[in-house]
Amino acid sequence: MSTDINIHPAIGANRAPAVSGFAGGKLACNCATDKVEVTIGAQTAFNHACGCTKCWKPADALFAQIAVVSRDKVTVTAHPEKLAIVDASATIERHACTTCGTHMYGRIENTKHAFHGLDFVHTELSKETGWSPVEFAAFVSSIIESGTKPDDMAAVRARLAELGLPYYDCLSPTLMDLLAANAAKAAGVLQ
Ligand SMILES: [Zn+2]
Ligand SMILES: [Zn+2]
Repeated sequence: MSTDINIHPAIGANRAPAVSGFAGGKLACNCATDKVEVTIGAQTAFNHACGCTKCWKPADALFAQIAVVSRDKVTVTAHPEKLAIVDASATIERHACTTCGTHMYGRIENTKHAFHGLDFVHTELSKETGWSPVEFAAFVSSIIESGTKPDDMAAVRARLAELGLPYYDCLSPTLMDLLAANAAKAAGVLQ
């Protein structure tokens, strides 16, 4: 067992299942006081481990854990003054706490993007259980860009397999198909 590989603290062998009828909860940043609070008014979807260099992850974790939810279900309910966009030039504008650095939600403002209308959230910031669990790992090879040695990648992929997570070096097939279909529609190839 390669349990010393820290995929993400919330992604272990025992993962809480989604609860039917679960309707969301509150995310809190990691500040000791005056926490930024974001209220999510729905269940999330496509929860996954992400190896990209832009998604926020806890210290020492190799991957972020990130899910999507309709942007109209995302409301900042405490300390909005502490939030700022990390990189306004990125496709996903990640709104982070300027004190502790935790990313509270990511939003796509480009209305032509396939994922416009969906916000990206880290449900492990919530005390509630019943959120949609992690389904797959995306951008696995990208963890090399944050310092993982290429020689260690086989062990990382073995650990993901051990955890029952399909893994991809881009997004999952379903999400890649959504992106490609959006591009094909924009090009007039697909009606
Ligand atoms: Zn904070
Ligand atoms: Zn990512």
